[in-house]
Amino acid sequence: MKILVTGGAGFIGSHLCEKLLEKGNEVICLDNFFTGSQKNIENLMGNKNFKLAEHDVEKPYDFAVDEIYNLACPAAPIWYQKDPVKTVRTSILGAINALDLTKKLGCRVLQASTSEVYGDPRVHPQKESYWGNVNPIGIRSCYDEGKRCAETLFFDYWREYGVDIKVVRIFNTYGPNMAVEDGRVVSNFIIQALRGEDLTIYGDGSQTRSFCYVDDLVEGLIALMGGKDFTGPVNLGNPAEFSMKELAEKVLALIPESGSKIVFKDLPADDPKQRKPDISLAEEKLNWQPAITLEEGLKKTIGYFKTVIK
Ligand code: NAD
Ligand code: UDP
Repeated sequence: MKILVTGGAGFIGSHLCEKLLEKGNEVICLDNFFTGSQKNIENLMGNKNFKLAEHDVEKPYDFAVDEIYNLACPAAPIWYQKDPVKTVRTSILGAINALDLTKKLGCRVLQASTSEVYGDPRVHPQKESYWGNVNPIGIRSCYDEGKRCAETLFFDYWREYGVDIKVVRIFNTYGPNMAVEDGRVVSNFIIQALRGEDLTIYGDGSQTRSFCYVDDLVEGLIALMGGKDFTGPVNLGNPAEFSMKELAEKVLALIPESGSKIVFKDLPADDPKQRKPDISLAEEKLNWQPAITLEEGLKKTIGYFKTVIK
Protein backbone atom coordinates (compact mmCIF):
# COMPACT_ATOMS: atom_id res chain seq x y z
CA MET A 1 0.00 0.00 0.00
CA LYS A 2 0.89 3.67 -0.33
CA ILE A 3 0.78 5.32 3.05
CA LEU A 4 1.15 8.95 4.08
CA VAL A 5 2.46 9.69 7.56
CA THR A 6 2.14 13.33 8.62
CA GLY A 7 4.63 14.14 11.37
CA GLY A 8 6.70 11.24 10.02
CA ALA A 9 10.03 12.81 11.01
CA GLY A 10 9.01 13.08 14.65
CA PHE A 11 9.53 10.63 17.48
CA ILE A 12 6.56 8.25 16.95
CA GLY A 13 6.24 9.04 13.23
CA SER A 14 9.79 7.93 12.43
CA HIS A 15 9.20 4.53 14.10
CA LEU A 16 5.89 4.18 12.30
CA CYS A 17 7.46 4.97 8.90
CA GLU A 18 10.18 2.40 9.54
CA LYS A 19 7.70 -0.32 10.55
CA LEU A 20 5.41 0.37 7.57
CA LEU A 21 8.40 0.12 5.19
CA GLU A 22 9.47 -3.15 6.85
CA LYS A 23 6.00 -4.50 6.10
CA GLY A 24 6.54 -3.77 2.37
CA ASN A 25 4.57 -0.54 2.00
CA GLU A 26 5.48 2.66 0.18
CA VAL A 27 5.67 5.53 2.63
CA ILE A 28 5.46 9.28 2.17
CA CYS A 29 6.64 11.18 5.23
CA LEU A 30 5.20 14.70 5.40
CA ASP A 31 6.73 17.05 7.97
CA ASN A 32 7.61 20.70 8.53
CA PHE A 33 10.48 19.79 10.91
CA PHE A 34 9.15 21.92 13.77
CA THR A 35 10.02 19.25 16.35
CA GLY A 36 11.01 16.43 13.99
CA SER A 37 14.45 15.98 12.48
CA GLN A 38 16.26 14.68 9.42
CA LYS A 39 18.29 12.52 11.78
CA ASN A 40 15.20 10.52 12.75
CA ILE A 41 14.66 9.45 9.14
CA GLU A 42 18.18 9.36 7.78
CA ASN A 43 18.21 5.55 7.90
CA LEU A 44 15.08 5.54 5.69
CA MET A 45 16.24 8.05 3.08
CA GLY A 46 18.04 5.46 0.95
CA ASN A 47 14.95 3.22 0.74
CA LYS A 48 13.32 3.44 -2.71
CA ASN A 49 9.88 3.04 -1.10
CA PHE A 50 10.37 6.10 1.13
CA LYS A 51 9.72 9.69 0.12
CA LEU A 52 9.95 12.90 2.12
CA ALA A 53 7.64 15.86 1.54
CA GLU A 54 8.56 18.99 3.47
CA HIS A 55 5.18 20.63 4.06
CA ASP A 56 3.01 22.21 6.72
CA VAL A 57 -0.30 20.42 7.39
CA GLU A 58 -2.00 23.80 7.84
CA LYS A 59 -1.95 23.98 4.06
CA PRO A 60 -3.77 21.43 1.87
CA TYR A 61 -1.75 18.64 0.27
CA ASP A 62 -2.48 16.05 -2.36
CA PHE A 63 -0.92 12.59 -2.68
CA ALA A 64 -2.52 9.45 -4.10
CA VAL A 65 -2.43 7.13 -1.09
CA ASP A 66 -4.44 4.30 0.47
CA GLU A 67 -4.00 5.35 4.11
CA ILE A 68 -3.13 8.51 6.04
CA TYR A 69 -1.74 8.52 9.57
CA ASN A 70 -2.19 12.08 10.88
CA LEU A 71 0.51 12.55 13.52
CA ALA A 72 1.70 16.08 12.72
CA CYS A 73 1.54 18.16 15.91
CA PRO A 74 4.10 19.07 18.56
CA ALA A 75 3.45 16.78 21.53
CA ALA A 76 5.72 18.01 24.33
CA PRO A 77 4.27 20.78 26.56
CA ILE A 78 7.22 23.16 26.15
CA TRP A 79 7.00 22.81 22.37
CA TYR A 80 3.23 23.05 21.91
CA GLN A 81 3.22 26.07 24.24
CA LYS A 82 5.88 27.97 22.24
CA ASP A 83 3.33 29.16 19.68
CA PRO A 84 -0.08 28.09 20.99
CA VAL A 85 -2.07 29.63 18.15
CA LYS A 86 0.03 27.65 15.68
CA THR A 87 -0.62 24.49 17.75
CA VAL A 88 -4.38 25.00 17.45
CA ARG A 89 -4.05 25.65 13.71
CA THR A 90 -1.94 22.52 13.27
CA SER A 91 -4.51 20.34 15.03
CA ILE A 92 -7.60 21.76 13.41
CA LEU A 93 -6.48 22.72 9.91
CA GLY A 94 -4.28 19.62 9.90
CA ALA A 95 -7.33 17.46 10.67
CA ILE A 96 -9.45 19.19 8.00
CA ASN A 97 -6.74 18.79 5.35
CA ALA A 98 -6.22 15.10 6.18
CA LEU A 99 -9.99 14.50 6.16
CA ASP A 100 -10.59 16.40 2.90
CA LEU A 101 -7.94 14.36 1.12
CA THR A 102 -9.34 11.13 2.60
CA LYS A 103 -12.83 12.10 1.45
CA LYS A 104 -11.61 12.91 -2.06
CA LEU A 105 -9.64 9.67 -2.39
CA GLY A 106 -12.09 7.42 -0.52
CA CYS A 107 -9.16 6.11 1.52
CA ARG A 108 -8.74 5.72 5.31
CA VAL A 109 -7.36 8.14 7.90
CA LEU A 110 -6.12 7.68 11.45
CA GLN A 111 -5.93 10.57 13.90
CA ALA A 112 -3.29 10.56 16.63
CA SER A 113 -5.34 11.93 19.50
CA THR A 114 -4.21 11.94 23.09
CA SER A 115 -4.95 11.11 26.70
CA GLU A 116 -4.96 14.90 27.15
CA VAL A 117 -8.58 14.85 25.93
CA TYR A 118 -9.30 13.58 29.48
CA GLY A 119 -7.53 16.65 30.93
CA ASP A 120 -6.90 16.39 34.68
CA PRO A 121 -9.13 13.35 35.02
CA ARG A 122 -11.68 12.85 37.76
CA VAL A 123 -12.17 9.24 36.68
CA HIS A 124 -9.35 6.77 37.13
CA PRO A 125 -8.25 4.79 35.16
CA GLN A 126 -9.52 6.55 32.05
CA LYS A 127 -12.01 4.76 29.79
CA GLU A 128 -12.97 6.01 26.34
CA SER A 129 -16.49 6.75 27.62
CA TYR A 130 -15.13 9.45 30.00
CA TRP A 131 -15.64 12.98 28.61
CA GLY A 132 -12.77 14.52 30.49
CA ASN A 133 -12.00 17.48 32.70
CA VAL A 134 -10.24 20.02 30.48
CA ASN A 135 -9.53 23.69 31.15
CA PRO A 136 -10.55 25.43 27.90
CA ILE A 137 -8.49 28.60 28.53
CA GLY A 138 -5.28 27.41 30.21
CA ILE A 139 -1.74 26.97 28.94
CA ARG A 140 -2.35 23.34 27.92
CA SER A 141 -5.62 24.14 26.14
CA CYS A 142 -4.06 24.85 22.75
CA TYR A 143 -3.05 21.21 22.65
CA ASP A 144 -5.90 19.59 24.59
CA GLU A 145 -8.73 21.50 22.95
CA GLY A 146 -7.04 21.37 19.54
CA LYS A 147 -6.96 17.58 19.81
CA ARG A 148 -10.54 17.46 21.12
CA CYS A 149 -11.76 19.56 18.19
CA ALA A 150 -9.79 17.33 15.79
CA GLU A 151 -11.70 14.34 17.22
CA THR A 152 -14.95 16.27 16.67
CA LEU A 153 -14.00 16.91 13.04
CA PHE A 154 -13.13 13.25 12.52
CA PHE A 155 -16.48 12.08 13.85
CA ASP A 156 -18.41 14.77 11.94
CA TYR A 157 -16.72 13.82 8.64
CA TRP A 158 -17.60 10.20 9.45
CA ARG A 159 -21.27 10.97 10.24
CA GLU A 160 -21.77 13.58 7.52
CA TYR A 161 -19.69 12.20 4.65
CA GLY A 162 -19.05 8.58 5.59
CA VAL A 163 -15.27 9.13 5.71
CA ASP A 164 -13.40 6.03 6.91
CA ILE A 165 -11.84 7.18 10.20
CA LYS A 166 -9.82 5.75 13.08
CA VAL A 167 -9.14 7.72 16.26
CA VAL A 168 -6.54 6.65 18.80
CA ARG A 169 -5.95 8.28 22.18
CA ILE A 170 -2.25 7.82 22.81
CA PHE A 171 -1.00 7.81 26.42
CA ASN A 172 2.56 8.88 27.33
CA THR A 173 4.91 7.12 24.93
CA TYR A 174 8.72 7.16 25.03
CA GLY A 175 11.73 5.63 23.34
CA PRO A 176 14.59 6.27 20.93
CA ASN A 177 14.29 9.26 18.54
CA MET A 178 12.81 11.55 21.19
CA ALA A 179 14.63 14.84 20.65
CA VAL A 180 17.31 15.71 23.20
CA GLU A 181 15.61 19.08 23.70
CA ASP A 182 12.08 17.53 23.74
CA GLY A 183 11.50 18.33 27.43
CA ARG A 184 9.20 15.44 28.29
CA VAL A 185 9.87 13.60 31.50
CA VAL A 186 11.44 10.33 30.34
CA SER A 187 13.96 11.93 28.00
CA ASN A 188 14.67 14.74 30.49
CA PHE A 189 15.45 12.34 33.35
CA ILE A 190 17.62 10.05 31.21
CA ILE A 191 19.58 12.93 29.67
CA GLN A 192 20.03 14.61 33.04
CA ALA A 193 21.26 11.35 34.59
CA LEU A 194 23.66 10.66 31.71
CA ARG A 195 25.08 14.17 32.00
CA GLY A 196 25.40 13.93 35.79
CA GLU A 197 22.93 16.81 36.21
CA ASP A 198 20.16 16.96 38.81
CA LEU A 199 16.89 15.29 37.84
CA THR A 200 14.15 17.93 37.81
CA ILE A 201 10.90 16.74 39.34
CA TYR A 202 8.09 19.26 38.86
CA GLY A 203 5.93 19.52 41.98
CA ASP A 204 6.35 16.90 44.71
CA GLY A 205 6.61 14.02 42.23
CA SER A 206 3.43 12.31 43.40
CA GLN A 207 1.65 12.89 40.07
CA THR A 208 1.39 9.72 38.00
CA ARG A 209 1.74 8.71 34.36
CA SER A 210 1.68 5.39 32.52
CA PHE A 211 4.52 4.97 30.05
CA CYS A 212 4.30 2.97 26.83
CA TYR A 213 7.38 1.94 24.85
CA VAL A 214 7.17 3.16 21.26
CA ASP A 215 7.36 -0.28 19.59
CA ASP A 216 4.24 -1.40 21.46
CA LEU A 217 2.41 1.77 20.47
CA VAL A 218 3.32 1.44 16.78
CA GLU A 219 1.96 -2.14 16.72
CA GLY A 220 -1.30 -0.79 18.14
CA LEU A 221 -1.53 2.02 15.55
CA ILE A 222 -1.08 -0.43 12.69
CA ALA A 223 -3.60 -2.87 14.21
CA LEU A 224 -6.17 -0.08 14.52
CA MET A 225 -5.60 1.12 10.94
CA GLY A 226 -5.95 -2.43 9.60
CA GLY A 227 -9.15 -3.28 11.49
CA LYS A 228 -12.66 -3.24 10.05
CA ASP A 229 -15.83 -1.59 11.37
CA PHE A 230 -14.17 0.04 14.35
CA THR A 231 -13.56 3.78 14.40
CA GLY A 232 -12.44 4.13 18.01
CA PRO A 233 -11.76 6.29 19.88
CA VAL A 234 -9.53 3.77 21.53
CA ASN A 235 -6.91 4.19 24.24
CA LEU A 236 -3.40 2.90 23.52
CA GLY A 237 -0.93 2.97 26.37
CA ASN A 238 0.71 0.91 29.04
CA PRO A 239 -1.50 0.67 32.13
CA ALA A 240 1.42 0.28 34.56
CA GLU A 241 1.25 3.51 36.58
CA PHE A 242 4.21 5.27 38.22
CA SER A 243 4.69 8.49 40.13
CA MET A 244 7.33 10.86 38.74
CA LYS A 245 9.35 10.22 41.90
CA GLU A 246 9.32 6.50 41.18
CA LEU A 247 10.33 7.18 37.59
CA ALA A 248 13.27 9.32 38.68
CA GLU A 249 14.42 6.61 41.10
CA LYS A 250 14.16 3.96 38.39
CA VAL A 251 16.23 6.02 35.96
CA LEU A 252 18.89 6.63 38.61
CA ALA A 253 18.97 2.91 39.47
CA LEU A 254 19.57 2.08 35.79
CA ILE A 255 22.37 4.68 35.47
CA PRO A 256 24.22 4.06 38.77
CA GLU A 257 27.36 5.82 37.55
CA SER A 258 25.39 9.08 37.23
CA GLY A 259 25.83 10.60 40.67
CA SER A 260 22.84 12.86 39.94
CA LYS A 261 20.49 14.01 42.68
CA ILE A 262 16.77 14.72 42.52
CA VAL A 263 15.64 18.35 42.80
CA PHE A 264 12.11 19.70 43.00
CA LYS A 265 10.86 22.54 40.79
CA ASP A 266 7.52 24.32 40.41
CA LEU A 267 4.67 22.29 39.00
CA PRO A 268 3.39 23.84 35.74
CA ALA A 269 -0.27 24.96 35.63
CA ASP A 270 -2.96 22.36 34.90
CA ASP A 271 -0.51 19.44 35.11
CA PRO A 272 -2.72 16.31 35.35
CA LYS A 273 -2.38 14.62 38.76
CA GLN A 274 -2.93 11.06 37.62
CA ARG A 275 -3.16 9.18 34.37
CA LYS A 276 -3.60 5.53 33.50
CA PRO A 277 -5.38 4.04 30.51
CA ASP A 278 -8.09 1.45 30.71
CA ILE A 279 -7.09 -0.63 27.68
CA SER A 280 -9.89 -3.19 27.75
CA LEU A 281 -11.34 -1.82 24.49
CA ALA A 282 -7.98 -2.17 22.67
CA GLU A 283 -7.64 -5.69 24.06
CA GLU A 284 -11.12 -6.62 22.86
CA LYS A 285 -11.17 -4.89 19.44
CA LEU A 286 -7.52 -5.01 18.41
CA ASN A 287 -6.24 -7.94 20.45
CA TRP A 288 -3.54 -5.49 21.57
CA GLN A 289 -1.68 -5.03 24.78
CA PRO A 290 1.79 -3.69 25.48
CA ALA A 291 4.59 -6.23 25.94
CA ILE A 292 7.54 -4.09 27.05
CA THR A 293 7.93 -3.19 30.72
CA LEU A 294 9.08 0.23 31.84
CA GLU A 295 12.42 -1.19 32.94
CA GLU A 296 13.08 -2.87 29.56
CA GLY A 297 11.97 0.22 27.65
CA LEU A 298 14.08 2.53 29.81
CA LYS A 299 17.16 0.37 29.16
CA LYS A 300 16.64 0.60 25.38
CA THR A 301 16.03 4.35 25.59
CA ILE A 302 19.10 4.89 27.78
CA GLY A 303 21.13 2.93 25.20
CA TYR A 304 19.87 5.27 22.50
CA PHE A 305 20.61 8.49 24.39
CA LYS A 306 24.13 7.24 25.20
CA THR A 307 24.79 7.30 21.44
CA VAL A 308 23.45 10.82 20.85
CA ILE A 309 24.66 12.74 23.90
CA LYS A 310 28.12 14.16 23.99
P1 NAD B 1 6.98 14.90 17.96
O1 NAD B 1 6.94 16.34 18.34
O2 NAD B 1 8.28 14.17 18.09
O3 NAD B 1 6.47 14.69 16.48
C1 NAD B 1 5.55 15.56 15.86
C2 NAD B 1 5.96 15.72 14.40
O4 NAD B 1 5.00 16.56 13.74
C3 NAD B 1 7.33 16.39 14.24
O5 NAD B 1 8.09 15.72 13.28
C4 NAD B 1 6.97 17.80 13.80
O6 NAD B 1 8.00 18.41 13.05
C5 NAD B 1 5.71 17.55 12.99
N1 NAD B 1 4.85 18.74 12.88
C6 NAD B 1 4.46 19.57 13.87
N2 NAD B 1 3.67 20.54 13.38
C7 NAD B 1 3.57 20.31 12.04
C8 NAD B 1 2.89 20.97 10.98
N3 NAD B 1 2.16 22.09 11.18
N4 NAD B 1 3.03 20.47 9.72
C9 NAD B 1 3.77 19.36 9.49
N5 NAD B 1 4.44 18.70 10.45
C10 NAD B 1 4.32 19.17 11.72
O7 NAD B 1 5.85 14.19 18.84
P2 NAD B 1 5.44 12.65 18.98
O8 NAD B 1 5.59 12.30 20.39
O9 NAD B 1 6.10 11.84 17.93
O10 NAD B 1 3.89 12.75 18.68
C11 NAD B 1 3.32 12.37 17.44
C12 NAD B 1 1.80 12.48 17.51
O11 NAD B 1 1.31 11.63 18.55
C13 NAD B 1 1.32 13.90 17.84
O12 NAD B 1 0.16 14.17 17.10
C14 NAD B 1 1.01 13.82 19.31
O13 NAD B 1 0.02 14.74 19.68
C15 NAD B 1 0.52 12.38 19.45
N6 NAD B 1 0.71 11.90 20.83
C16 NAD B 1 1.95 11.58 21.30
C17 NAD B 1 2.09 11.16 22.60
C18 NAD B 1 3.42 10.76 23.19
O14 NAD B 1 3.49 10.43 24.39
N7 NAD B 1 4.50 10.72 22.46
C19 NAD B 1 0.97 11.08 23.45
C20 NAD B 1 -0.26 11.45 22.94
C21 NAD B 1 -0.39 11.84 21.62
N1 UDP C 1 7.94 16.39 34.56
C1 UDP C 1 8.90 16.43 35.55
N2 UDP C 1 10.17 16.76 35.19
C2 UDP C 1 10.53 17.04 33.91
C3 UDP C 1 9.55 16.98 32.91
C4 UDP C 1 8.25 16.66 33.27
O1 UDP C 1 8.63 16.15 36.72
O2 UDP C 1 11.72 17.33 33.68
C5 UDP C 1 6.57 15.99 34.95
C6 UDP C 1 5.45 16.86 34.40
O3 UDP C 1 5.21 17.96 35.27
C7 UDP C 1 4.30 15.87 34.36
C8 UDP C 1 4.97 14.54 34.06
O4 UDP C 1 6.35 14.70 34.40
O5 UDP C 1 3.69 15.80 35.64
C9 UDP C 1 4.88 14.13 32.60
O6 UDP C 1 5.30 15.24 31.84
P1 UDP C 1 5.51 15.17 30.26
O7 UDP C 1 5.82 16.55 29.79
O8 UDP C 1 6.43 14.07 29.92
O9 UDP C 1 4.07 14.70 29.69
P2 UDP C 1 2.57 15.16 30.00
O10 UDP C 1 2.53 16.11 31.16
O11 UDP C 1 2.13 15.79 28.74
O12 UDP C 1 1.89 13.90 30.33
